This record gives sequence, C-alpha cells and structure tokens, in this order.
Amino acid sequence: MGTLVAPDRSHQRVLVIEDDATIGHHLEAGLRGNGYTPAWSRTGTSALAEAARTRYDAVLLDLGLPDTDGLDVARALRARFPNLLIVILTARTEDIDIIAGLDAGADDYLVKPFTLTVLLARLRAHLRRHTGTSSAAPGPVRLGDLVLDTTARRCTLRDSEVLLRPKEFDLLAVLARHPGEAVSRETLMAQVWDENWFGSTKTLDVTMAALRRRLAHASDALPGPCTLPEITTLRGHGYRLER
Ligand code: CA
Repeated sequence: MGTLVAPDRSHQRVLVIEDDATIGHHLEAGLRGNGYTPAWSRTGTSALAEAARTRYDAVLLDLGLPDTDGLDVARALRARFPNLLIVILTARTEDIDIIAGLDAGADDYLVKPFTLTVLLARLRAHLRRHTGTSSAAPGPVRLGDLVLDTTARRCTLRDSEVLLRPKEFDLLAVLARHPGEAVSRETLMAQVWDENWFGSTKTLDVTMAALRRRLAHASDALPGPCTLPEITTLRGHGYRLER
C-alpha cells in the first residue's frame, strides 16, 4: 500500500469561526490533516481580532455564535477583506437565511451536517479559483447596456459599476460566453463551482436569484430604461441568456 501524503497547503490559512467544541475540533484537525494551516476562534469578536492580526485565505463561519450574529461577522470581514473566501456553515436551511448570508458577503455556504470530504472539496475548488491565474483573457462582452469585463472582473451598466458577488459574476460570465444557447445546470455547477460537483444544485438557484436581483436593482437605480440581458429559466434543464 502506498503512503498517502497530504499536499502541502501550509501557505493556505483557514480561520474556523465556530463555538461548538466538537465541530471546531473536528474542522481544525481535518484541515490540519489535509495540509492547511488552520486557526480556530470561538466567538465573532475574537475572530475579527484574529483576522486583523493574520492574513487568511479562507474563513469557515458558523452563523450561530454566542456573542454576535454570524451575518454581522460576514459583513465586517467582507468590508475589510474583499478577496477573502467566506464559507458560511449553517444549521439554518431556510432560503431566506442562505440569501441573507450571500448578501452579507459570503461566497458559499454549507448546511450542517456536512462531511469533511465535501467541505474540503468545496474549499479546494474555491481556493483554486481565488488564487488561479486567468488564462485566455477574452475582451469585454457587451449585453445590451451591460458590459462584462472578465479580465478586470468588472460589470458595468451604462458605465456605472454593478457590484456582483464572485459566484454571481462567474455565473453571468459562463452564460455570456454562450449567448442564445441553453446551458445545463450540470455545466454551470461544474464551471462556476467545481468540476467534481456531486451535491445539491440549490446553490445555483440561490445565486441566480441574487444575480437577477442585483441586475434589476442596478437598472432601477439608473434614470430611463436600460437594456438588460434576459436570462430565461429552462425548467429541468438550466438557463439561457437571450441574445
Ligand atoms: Ca453555533
């Protein structure tokens, strides 16, 4: 039998924010065993202090903390660290809580109970994308009054910037690469999340709803009518960005 050697991810620091001792120990040990450099904070206050002290690549954030609401921690982290990967760990399964978490600045979420394997897969995929270099830089794509510049990762509507969360931007970018074509849910999950995705695709619906909402808000904020790209839902299949 060969020896399994964990890949060296010791340069990747992960902050676990979790008050539950069992889960906290489990996550810290699991991350360390898989080559990451983890730290563990049990409260929101101590986590924010720790994040200010040390540079982290990713944060695993429990929403139910003893001192502060996890959503406030997510907002504070996002405001200070625009490139930090934030994954919410939640026992809350209501869509509204997940949407609130993503709106608060989280990149992704996992509903408890989840397995370490799934968590690690998600983390790998996100960190690869966060640190990955973008090859083949296509020019900006114009979709009506909306311009999507994937090189600069900027989305503008009539020259005014539309702030999209990373996954919302990626989702729009994949659809924009195939205007007028049906793109399946599997393709979107694979290209925006992880090529080895095998779990629930609900995160796709939540992110799509947030994307549509942000585009609508951006359009409403401008004077006069805007031409926005229309994204059609293809029930049981996926989505299509209309030409
Ligand atoms: Ca908790």
